[in-house]
Amino acid sequence: MEKEIILAKYGEMALKGLNRSIFEDVLMKNLRRKLRKYGKFRLTKAQSTIYIESEMVNVDLDEILEDLQRVFGIATLCRACVCEKSMEDISCKAISYLEDDLTTIDTFKVEAKRADKLFPLKSLEICAELGGDLIDAYPHLKVDVHNPEFIVTAEIRDQYAFIHGADRKGAGGLPVGTSGKAMLLLSGGIDSPVAGYRMARRGVQITAIHFISPPYTSDRALEKVETLCQELTAYCGNIAFFCVPFTEIQEAIKTHCPDGYFTIIMRRLMMEIAQRVAAKEKCLALITGESIGQVASQTMHAIACTDAVCKIPVLRPLVGLDKTEIIETARRIGTFETSTLPYEDCCTVFTPKHPKVRPILDDVEKAQGKFDFSEMIEKSVNGTTLKIFTVETN
Ligand code: ATP
Ligand code: MG
Repeated sequence: MEKEIILAKYGEMALKGLNRSIFEDVLMKNLRRKLRKYGKFRLTKAQSTIYIESEMVNVDLDEILEDLQRVFGIATLCRACVCEKSMEDISCKAISYLEDDLTTIDTFKVEAKRADKLFPLKSLEICAELGGDLIDAYPHLKVDVHNPEFIVTAEIRDQYAFIHGADRKGAGGLPVGTSGKAMLLLSGGIDSPVAGYRMARRGVQITAIHFISPPYTSDRALEKVETLCQELTAYCGNIAFFCVPFTEIQEAIKTHCPDGYFTIIMRRLMMEIAQRVAAKEKCLALITGESIGQVASQTMHAIACTDAVCKIPVLRPLVGLDKTEIIETARRIGTFETSTLPYEDCCTVFTPKHPKVRPILDDVEKAQGKFDFSEMIEKSVNGTTLKIFTVETN
């Protein structure tokens, strides 16, 4: 049987603006963490490619490939057959390795990539020779250089040559951990998990924070958010999850502040608490799932009033997206089903009938000033609990 490996290519584009060795080190680390649950692998890097070799027999490379398609920083992936650097071995291996593909298609072409410029044949000559050998072996095949059903790729590298069929699309973006750490305000809704995914794709390591208001919110509601966190690890890597008791604060807003300002005051207090936990955790920014105009608390006026209490940047990667676009992503990354489970979130419990759609900062500050929340904020921060969700258990 042929020896098979996985090639994960990151391409030069992704490296722009980032230190190459940091990019590669973090990507290798993320891949290793992801692969741990599948057994032992040897990883090496050369020419913008990471070579992933299994040290075991009987591994399901397709299952692993599918999982690796969720690792940010990789442009394309494929499984490939390892060949000696001779045309005889390349042709011979290609004929048997690609048998399943070549017997089910009619037109193909060969593409050759010659990274080793000392290889005696030039790319076009490799294509001609390998193409000829494949047609000899499978006489029904025809070459179609413009619109082939299947592309056979031969790559001549430093130590070996590789043969493979179609590339799979990688997750793109930057390796998680190359852009610093930020704190995601994670609710049980559809939007915030997508927001976390989006920022992780830009290399940001995600720490999550969630506000609960028992007995108004149930254990099931919390379990749902924990499930979302676990689901996100497939893309975001390990996630530290902070859970904040928020009942007292919500009751105090309800009791002491004018009704129409409930939501905006609550959001400001969430931000106050989140940025304190963020500071302790060395997070450089907050992330929310807000999108302009989606609900009353997400008008530009409301966002301005919320931002007024934030001393670190608030990243809102969904700000210009429609709900349908957000839902599309949620479905694709596998969080939609969990997000649409029915359990109540703390935001919906006390929501006023007529929230202020265009709050003015002065009025909001006056409304919030009816009560001194500082002690309660302190208490919530101190009552926060931590749970870690890891990639290996996903
Ligand atoms: P989502 O679908 O993310 O819940 P939403 O459309 O329901 O968003 P809001 O309820 O206004 O919008 O919440 C806006 C943002 O505030 C959320 O995207 C999330 O980042 C944050 N948030 C809301 N509720 C909580 C909570 N209980 N814990 C942590 N963050 C929250
Ligand atoms: Mg919500």
